Amino acid sequence: MTAEAALDVLIVGAGLAGLAAARDLRASGRRVRVLDKSRGVSGRAATRRVSLSDGTGARLDHGARFFTARHDRTQQLVQAGLNDPWLREWARGFALWEHGTVSEPTDGHPRYVPWEGMSALGKELAHGLEIQTGVTITRLERQGSLWEVSDASGVVARAPTVILNVPAPQLGPLLTGLDIHVPDVEYAPAWAAGIVLRNDIEARWPALELRGHPVLEWIAREHTKRPAGHPPALVLQATPEWSRANLERTPDDVLPELLEAARRVLGDLPDSHTAFAHRWRYATPTHRAPGAGVWDATLALGLCGDSFTPDAHGPRVEAALLSGWWLAEQITA
Ligand SMILES: Cc1cc2nc3c(=O)[nH]c(=O)nc-3n(C[C@H](O)[C@H](O)[C@H](O)COP(=O)(O)OP(=O)(O)OC[C@H]3O[C@@H](n4cnc5c(N)ncnc54)[C@H](O)[C@@H]3O)c2cc1C
Repeated sequence: MTAEAALDVLIVGAGLAGLAAARDLRASGRRVRVLDKSRGVSGRAATRRVSLSDGTGARLDHGARFFTARHDRTQQLVQAGLNDPWLREWARGFALWEHGTVSEPTDGHPRYVPWEGMSALGKELAHGLEIQTGVTITRLERQGSLWEVSDASGVVARAPTVILNVPAPQLGPLLTGLDIHVPDVEYAPAWAAGIVLRNDIEARWPALELRGHPVLEWIAREHTKRPAGHPPALVLQATPEWSRANLERTPDDVLPELLEAARRVLGDLPDSHTAFAHRWRYATPTHRAPGAGVWDATLALGLCGDSFTPDAHGPRVEAALLSGWWLAEQITA
């Protein structure tokens, strides 16, 4: 028997949903391997580490900005993170920019961020799991009692059960020829930008939500998430409309426009160390599939992630976690 044949479950995608499922499946005694095309885990709950010329560094969340915990299971995860403590409560509401006026409402609802950045959430879930990164899965094929999962150079691993934690619009090539419905899900793109400043801007808010702005919908003072001493830094996020209209441009091309939009809102920015832009082609679903995920017991194939609707709240970190936990429960039932 090969090492691969000893696996019980293969999970394609080390996003939060895949990792949440992996943890529960491993806890039930199954041998699980998680494969991801990126260099690290956590998917869109992503943190860019930037090295500065003075030898220090900065961490900017250019994907998910924070997360909320409305369900018991997520609240338990939060409590464990706050006690450990790899997690902190960041804010209970943000300032609001509307037609050039800034107000500071608070809704009293806690938003959480790991001290080290959002990718630390994925790393925490991945702790102790068998993970293989840097492998892009291009094919899924049933051979007798096993699934064969391949990348461009051939078979990567085999297991009787496979989970796909991949945004639905990217599932097509993997599910070709299989008798399983590809969920009808649409995603909006997002351009994000980060800038590390030499001095902080004049503001008291942790982040600004912009309503009705032609370019931006979010500006965060990223250092307010981090331990004291972190260099001042901003993360900007463009609206879905602007992101869609500028989708095929390069990061170098859009960065000056995003920074100029921030200047028009905030006034002149202090000198910067460095800045970057990042495109998310599939950022957040605008239309999701019903149900918490898909589990086809006959095929031994499952789908999870924020393409699904495990609760009535938005497509977000918590939805991804709930979807992954739900799928693990179906498999172990
Ligand atoms: C800009 C932005 C801002 C956001 N802000 C918030 C927020 O403030 N709060 C909040 O709760 N949520 C926010 N979200 C949403 C949140 O990030 C997602 O809902 C959540 O991270 C989705 O997790 P997932 O596991 O479903 O998918 P993903 O994180 O997308 O994981 C899928 C994984 O699959 C891998 N993969 C894909 N195809 C393959 C393949 N063929 N082979 C191998 N690996 C593959 C990818 O590399 C990825 O790691 C934001 C998202 C973005 C992009």
